[in-house]
Amino acid sequence: MDLHPWGVGFTLPPREHGSMRPTHIIIGAGQAGGWAAVAMRQAGFAGRILLIGEEPWRPYERPPLSKAMLTAEPTPEVQYFHPAAKYTEQDIELLLGVPVAELDPVAHRVRLADGRALDYDRVLLTTGGRARRLAIPGGEHALTLRTLEDALAIRARLAAARRVVCIGAGVIGLEIAASARTRGAEVTVLETLAGAMGRAVSPEGARFVERLHRDAGVDVRFAVAVERIEAAHRIETDGGRFVVQCRDGEAFPADLVIAGIGMQRNLALAEQAGLAIEGGIVVDALGRTSASDVFAAGDVAAFFHPLFGRHLRLESWRHAQNHGIAVGKAMCGDTAPYDDVPWFWTDQLGVNLQVAGLPAEAARTIVRVNDPPKAFIAVHLAADDSVIGVTAANAPREIRAGQALIKSGKPVDVARLADASVPLQQLIPR
Ligand code: NAP
Repeated sequence: MDLHPWGVGFTLPPREHGSMRPTHIIIGAGQAGGWAAVAMRQAGFAGRILLIGEEPWRPYERPPLSKAMLTAEPTPEVQYFHPAAKYTEQDIELLLGVPVAELDPVAHRVRLADGRALDYDRVLLTTGGRARRLAIPGGEHALTLRTLEDALAIRARLAAARRVVCIGAGVIGLEIAASARTRGAEVTVLETLAGAMGRAVSPEGARFVERLHRDAGVDVRFAVAVERIEAAHRIETDGGRFVVQCRDGEAFPADLVIAGIGMQRNLALAEQAGLAIEGGIVVDALGRTSASDVFAAGDVAAFFHPLFGRHLRLESWRHAQNHGIAVGKAMCGDTAPYDDVPWFWTDQLGVNLQVAGLPAEAARTIVRVNDPPKAFIAVHLAADDSVIGVTAANAPREIRAGQALIKSGKPVDVARLADASVPLQQLIPR
């Protein structure tokens, strides 16, 4: 596996401030940052592009980290978005393993943690987020998953784990639960909310996902408050290396404890620079922050969405990519507002679940197909009967139709929508 941090062989030393060439600096070498860099070149920007990352790797795919990276034999190769040569060809300078310590929007300058200063004409913040840690006694015993190193650490521990407890029934907790179950472990999921994937799906979708896990033998518990994690006194009698203690007195032994309890946006630079922040860095439909020549994209941004008429914060693969591309182009003069329909997928226990739009905000949901654990199609409606979201298991065509319905913004014929024999495509306004 290509795991050598600097093994890319093309990292150039940064020029110190004073360079005359117009410079775009991208802070954050994840998916959004990597795609923004390439998009800037595609948009014709001929100046200097510097992509700075805290992690030692060039931008790589995170979806395999909770799936194949935990289950496949042998350990899969890291999937990078672009081959190393692409950055050389495109004259994109990579500065990896170097945190940025300071952003000065007035002086148009960033300072790296090693003290070097770099001037920019425009800067893009794609700093993403980090896994939230469990703030309870013994919380340090729970592993989290965000980076490649995190995944490799979980993989190593999973190999010998008989009992796994996942705290949090969000996408991370459930995907890891599914991976651990696939590897034959006994798995318990403990969630504070009343249902699975709380903020991403409607209650009907949550029940489908719950059933999927229960049918596969996962012990799923909702409305549970985890109080502390203790190291076991005697592994043989306690049943695992750790004991996860809940407030109601119930205790779950585990060889491996995972916390998938959400992401914290990396906002420190934006805060220090005095940018407007509302949960994320506030940007308009072109990715512009409250400071001139400072842009933000991806997980870290709270962006104005023309379709929904307000700011959204999204944490998904496609958003990271397409927002990165859109804002990268906007920094080079493109004026097309970013209006992608939100979309994400998750693979759990042989089911591919896709979600378009914002199902959790629906006024009501029409379930067209519900045949757990294999088939599920639900369309989520706003108060005016326009489609606000679609959730579908193993049905990508329905999701594509659903995205067109969401984009149309028009009310649908609810009687026809409720008739599963009418293809969703036929409801798309011409
Ligand atoms: P998440 O989707 O926000 O889910 C975290 C869940 O854990 C929430 O239901 C949360 O409830 C619950 N929780 C919080 N504190 C808890 C506690 N102390 N005990 C038990 N449950 C608790 O976040 P995630 O699953 O950790 O994922 C992290 C990031 O990775 C997200 O950005 C996610 O979108 C991304 N990701 C995406 C995919 C995909 O798209 N397929 C896959 C993996 C990861 P509250 O809402 O009440 O806090």
